[in-house]
Amino acid sequence: MKQRNRTRIVPVGNIKIGGDSPIAIQSMSATRTQDIEATIRQLNLIHEAGADLIRIAIDSKADVKALSVIREQTQNLNINLSVDLQENYRLISDVAPLVDKVRYNPGHLHHHEKDKTISQKVEFIASIAFENNIALRIGVNCGSVDPILKEKFGKDDVGAMVESALQHTQLLDDLGFYKYVVSLKDSDWRKVIEGNRRFASIRPEIPLHLGVTEAGMPPEGIIKTRVAFEQLISEGIGDTVRVSLTLPFDKKGEEVTVAREILKDIENGRYRSVPNSLDQGLNIISCPSCSRVENEKFIELAQQVKVMSEYAKNYDITVAVMGCRVNGPGETDDADIGMWCGPLGVNLKRGEELIGHFGYDTVLDKTKNLLDEMINEIESVKQI
Ligand code: SF4
Repeated sequence: MKQRNRTRIVPVGNIKIGGDSPIAIQSMSATRTQDIEATIRQLNLIHEAGADLIRIAIDSKADVKALSVIREQTQNLNINLSVDLQENYRLISDVAPLVDKVRYNPGHLHHHEKDKTISQKVEFIASIAFENNIALRIGVNCGSVDPILKEKFGKDDVGAMVESALQHTQLLDDLGFYKYVVSLKDSDWRKVIEGNRRFASIRPEIPLHLGVTEAGMPPEGIIKTRVAFEQLISEGIGDTVRVSLTLPFDKKGEEVTVAREILKDIENGRYRSVPNSLDQGLNIISCPSCSRVENEKFIELAQQVKVMSEYAKNYDITVAVMGCRVNGPGETDDADIGMWCGPLGVNLKRGEELIGHFGYDTVLDKTKNLLDEMINEIESVKQI
């Protein structure tokens, strides 16, 4: 195993990420943030499982208000809290006094205040983080990369993801703000490995947060994540990790226990071999869920899709099931069959094309029809 990259040390609450600090384990609350009771229960559960840092999604002033109550009522736990901001980046001024770290997604900064440049928005984010002495994460996702870079890099989506991360590290460095980490995520573990390798070869001193996003359900989600972590951490890349799994709320602590197990195995040289056939056949990806889930039926639906599609296990088809409209539309574009959940129904896609919006009670049959259609097409090509 190679020695860990000598990364900058980033203090986050009572832990340090980077340098010689142990690899920090993170997880995220999946409950609706405004459901204060459920979110506090979720924080307790993840904290008891041993998470070093817990993330919550914040999308509105009402979420911030809930966060402030949650923070107050969990003071005794001494939790290191991080917040995930999406489009509404200005919310950072409300959340910064309440948390230890904020993640922003460079690919979502163009949505609001189109008259402002990305540099101006980053300057605003950094100034608030600086005033409140909190850390930042530049959280780039391959599926929601800045549209300008997406166009520029075309098929090289990993290149676009790496370039986005590099641009934002430069912006923060130019502002004299160094208290940040970077993540480069995708649901495809190969892209996670490639993106982090490329980034670390250029900026080895920046602490990296590793994760395979929307890895899906156990055991497949664990296997994909393990492969990515084994490859990267053994090369000295990675300072903090998150295992993203689609799990019922009361099992969310499993993300932490699985992460700990993988890290321990790597430390002890216990690697699982990576069969060449990994990911051959049916590949189901599903998001780990968070407070943005539009309907709690999502988790049940993801499990039903897995059972329903078992018969197609030998076909190279990717099915993506996402919990909300924030990341659902973009993150399903690369899948053969995509489903993203709304409050009352599910949007079913074939590639980038929307097939229709169906109720939770009918979408499974529609998905099966689509799967049959694709299998027929694969079979008819084989016969030519
Ligand atoms: S797709 Fe939506 S619900 Fe699922 S984890 Fe991402 S933001 Fe949360």
